[in-house]
Amino acid sequence: ESVTVDDVLAGLDDEQRAAVTAPAGPLCILAGAGTGKTRAITHRIAHRVRSGQVQPQQVLAVTFTARAAAELRARLGMLGAGGVSARTFHAAALRQLRYFAPRIFHGRAMPELVDSKARLVTLAAAKTGHRGERTLARDLAGEIEWAKSSLVEPGDYPAVATKAGRELPLAADQVAAVFAEYERAKRAAGMIDFEDVLRAAAWAMEEHQDVAEQIRSQYRHFVVDEYQDVNPVQQKLLETWLAGRDDLTVVGDASQTIYSFTGATSGYLVDFPRQHKDATVVRLFRDYRSTPQVVALANTVISQARGAEARLRLELVGQRAPGPEPEVRDFPDEPAEAAAVAARCAALIDAGTPPSEIAVLYRINAQSEVYEGALADAGVPYVLQGSERFFERGEVRQAMVALRVATRTADPGAPLVPTVAEALDAVGWRSENPPAGGAAREKWEALAALVGLAEEFAASRSTGTTRADRGDDTGHGGQPGWDDPAGPDTSLAAFTAELDRRAAAQHAPTVEGVTLASLHSAKGLEWDAVFLVGLADGTLPTTYAKTPEALEEERRLLYVGITRAREWLWLSWAAARAAGGRQSRRPSRFLPAGPARAGTTTQPVPKKRDRAVARSVSCRVCGVTLMDAMERKLGRCATCPSTMDEELLERLQAWRALVAQAARVPSYVVFTDATLT
Ligand code: ATP
Ligand code: MG
Repeated sequence: ESVTVDDVLAGLDDEQRAAVTAPAGPLCILAGAGTGKTRAITHRIAHRVRSGQVQPQQVLAVTFTARAAAELRARLGMLGAGGVSARTFHAAALRQLRYFAPRIFHGRAMPELVDSKARLVTLAAAKTGHRGERTLARDLAGEIEWAKSSLVEPGDYPAVATKAGRELPLAADQVAAVFAEYERAKRAAGMIDFEDVLRAAAWAMEEHQDVAEQIRSQYRHFVVDEYQDVNPVQQKLLETWLAGRDDLTVVGDASQTIYSFTGATSGYLVDFPRQHKDATVVRLFRDYRSTPQVVALANTVISQARGAEARLRLELVGQRAPGPEPEVRDFPDEPAEAAAVAARCAALIDAGTPPSEIAVLYRINAQSEVYEGALADAGVPYVLQGSERFFERGEVRQAMVALRVATRTADPGAPLVPTVAEALDAVGWRSENPPAGGAAREKWEALAALVGLAEEFAASRSTGTTRADRGDDTGHGGQPGWDDPAGPDTSLAAFTAELDRRAAAQHAPTVEGVTLASLHSAKGLEWDAVFLVGLADGTLPTTYAKTPEALEEERRLLYVGITRAREWLWLSWAAARAAGGRQSRRPSRFLPAGPARAGTTTQPVPKKRDRAVARSVSCRVCGVTLMDAMERKLGRCATCPSTMDEELLERLQAWRALVAQAARVPSYVVFTDATLT
């Protein structure tokens, strides 16, 4: 391979390099958002692989979302360390269970996964005398999730929940009764839920020596990203994998703990140096992700934080060139807010920002609907995140059943895509007339994504293209992957087999568009332009956050949101929910008062006309257009650096100033005299 150890070490600062080259053994990186923690662990893995210290298949890297895992795999591939297993805890556990199922479940199939926890909890609540209310079922499901992630059994629940100061939807012993009934009904149905998967994976290693040995002899070097949000079940699984060994790298930022409502705690991260006396501890403080303006806002918001971790925090120091000021906007109601966001998205895209570099982030998933509608109206493509559980969605599971049924009757020679579309007809999907928004639209999109996969599958088989590491999670090589040119088998059976593989790997389909995501699912990710919407008091912080600890978590959530932006940040809130509604809301208490709040000025946005100009003006010498020069992020013509056309250069600078103000600052475009001469 062409990637050398030196290549892996290039592009790191001194602290990052120290982390990357630290000897095998416990290592802990404690640092704020955007300081290159994920970059450091990626390079550490690659460094150890490229220098021959470990084999790629001996590394298990665990991250929080399927999207983050896919990004890690892609980056490792580029650094010459493809073949490393990078997964979520859930995917790693599920894969292990499926692989060892015959041994663990004594020849029986692996239990089905619970597809609707809400339904099962509602039934359990009804059985114990609490029927009706959806919000009650939701709160009970939340408590059950918290208890299971915290390794608390129904019998111990009342004491532990009371001690932990949980905000309870019912009396503690009543919650425990629902919890016990839920567990009973689940077991009776032969099913396991999301949390059980992690517990069962740990349990399988404890009960089956041979299984444990096989797994432990494979994985020697463990890496956990976002370690501040690990919960007791995940920690237990990690310890079971390690079995007393200590070649473990953990990275995290206690200021980004946002899952404590489900039992996560930054305690494991903060205590790591005490638990591992010989641990190497590295702190990073340079923020490479965001403009100084964004960094300053992030520092302001988090500097108000209370709690133990506040003392350990280092102020972030921005490394990038200045960019536009964050915009703080208020609106009379949510539809107006959403329409303005959609219009701005369209303008950014017009000015050259790719849709995939834009995100709209909100506190709760219910907020997505109004943005879906507004973006659809504005003709802006979007992707709803949360696709980690794509293959666990009810309609996708139904579709997979329908596809499996169809394989029995389908003509193996028939073209794949129409066959798939026809099979989806059985679950009520029609390619035409997508619903306008909301849950129906989401379902439609999910099924459309399956058809998209079928198209991709048929195309890759017929052209025989092999796209190396498309983020397939097959891990150890060996098994044939998505793109192995194993022959032009485009039958429905081959496609469903591939879907099964992708489902096992939680490898959801990707679509190009503006990301719509909850703040929780945005952690670890970054975009050029970020819209933080619905920042009204009562939404962020949510009215459910009643204890001081819960409020602190809401503050951290805003900090996570702000630090997702590379260049362009918008923060907005609406005084009323519906158009014409009572305008009684106030801005989030976490938004800093003062000039930033008052600054509701609208910045100039490059117009379509400007874009046309950018296309039409070209270098007289080599013909490169202004638009091309911008898109290649070059301050000069690629072909004739010393004879840059003056008019082009002038317009390039004017255009750049306009775009920089409105959208993005390509800070690596440096206009120096050297470039001109
Ligand atoms: P988070 O806490 O949000 O997960 P992080 O600490 O993991 O953030 P990364 O995602 O690793 O940060 O890095 C943030 C951005 O900064 C990325 O775009 C990364 O490529 C870039 N970056 C990190 N280190 C450097 C560096 N030494 N030089 C240039 N760019 C860097
Ligand atoms: Mg990270």
